[in-house]
Amino acid sequence: MAGILRPFYCELCAKQYKMASEFEAHLGSYDHHHKKRLRELREAESSRAKEERQRREQKREEREMAKAQEMAAQAAVVAAAVAAPTPRSEVIMENQARCRMLMIRHHNS
Ligand SMILES: [Zn+2]
Repeated sequence: MAGILRPFYCELCAKQYKMASEFEAHLGSYDHHHKKRLRELREAESSRAKEERQRREQKREEREMAKAQEMAAQAAVVAAAVAAPTPRSEVIMENQARCRMLMIRHHNS
């Protein structure tokens, strides 16, 4: 806001100085560096937390997607079974036909 009226203001520490020398002394002070380090730590912490949150979110989406796909696959299997039920007798007859064919081939050779 009143940046021009407050040329020696440290935003980080919310401290106002009248003299450039005071301000410079503050910038070099332990207090200022401590606040700066704290803020950097907090920012790093919050960005890490954000990344972690995003990673978790992505994992959850992947899990949900996999679950949805699995359910869709199951539904497809059920739908196929309902739509085209294979009678047992048909399977047996097919197997018997195959057996006969094998026997004939065996005979001829
Ligand atoms: Zn400061």
